[in-house]
Amino acid sequence: MSDVPADLPIYADVERAAERLHGVAHRTPVLTSRTANERTGATLFFKCENLQRAGAFKFRGAYNAVAALDDEQRARGVLSFSSGNHAQALALACMLMRTRVAIVMPKDAPAAKVEATRGYGGEIVFYDRYTQDRETIARDLAEQDGMALIPPFDHRDVIAGQGTAARELLEDVGTLDVLVTPLGGGGLLSGTTLAARRLAPYCRLVGVEPEAGDDARQSLRKGEIVTIAPPRSIADGAITTHLGTLPFAILRAAEVEVVTASDAQLVAATRFFAERMKLVVEPTGCLGLAAVLNGAVDVRGKRVGVMLSGGNVDVAALAKYLG
Ligand SMILES: *Cc1c(COP(=O)(O)O)cnc(C)c1O
Repeated sequence: MSDVPADLPIYADVERAAERLHGVAHRTPVLTSRTANERTGATLFFKCENLQRAGAFKFRGAYNAVAALDDEQRARGVLSFSSGNHAQALALACMLMRTRVAIVMPKDAPAAKVEATRGYGGEIVFYDRYTQDRETIARDLAEQDGMALIPPFDHRDVIAGQGTAARELLEDVGTLDVLVTPLGGGGLLSGTTLAARRLAPYCRLVGVEPEAGDDARQSLRKGEIVTIAPPRSIADGAITTHLGTLPFAILRAAEVEVVTASDAQLVAATRFFAERMKLVVEPTGCLGLAAVLNGAVDVRGKRVGVMLSGGNVDVAALAKYLG
């Protein structure tokens, strides 16, 4: 590609992030399930980022990005926009580093996510997802207060931090034939790609986005970033309207595949995790398993990594899925 972004992260950035996160982020467990293996005919390895601090992999990227700021920038505070998990992660990272943090959040963000962000000391600025542009609001605020903008996925240090989850998974289980990862703006999948291309060069990389919004699949087919209307799906961590510029460049160069899963399939996967593995996984975190179970990814006879990206779900919503 001729227009490669200048701040594209590389594998060395993932290693640097792993050093920063050592002793701060949890090294989350990798679990297996005989039942899941029997159902799919594969050997599945679940990387449990639902058990990460603040309940999702997002803590990795957020902490790495705040840690990478110089002291002067950190003293002025940081700012972001998010559908929830990035907000909580950034608020926790800032609490640990004694840094001021403000978050621009949709009015209809899940109550548990809003409360958790406040609980970590984050200031919240609400906006309307269907009529206002969160990125514009956040940029204006960043300019007014001189705070550093740390977006949820289109950022070198965020991507590098997210890549540490796949790095741990590959260190723990050895090489994989396929690695299946939830996909929103592409921070997790592009970080995963950096780690996997180095540690498991022949591994097939598959991103899974909600069926209601397959903008990433369209973008990779078309060779340019496609923006869609805000999709409606229970996978609230992946209802982004477009890929980030940096993730797109990484995914495109690595020939990453993208498939989708429906809300009904996400509910089935949520139930599977609760019933069979005693795990609370939020719908977005179930995208990987849903795509493996629905046949969108051919896994028979393969060693397959599945990212469980997060576990932040309102208990009332969870009860509905399980009922
Ligand atoms: C943010 C998020 C995703 C999507 O990650 P991107 O980096 O935006 O692709 C997936 N699962 C969970 C639980 C998330 O919070």
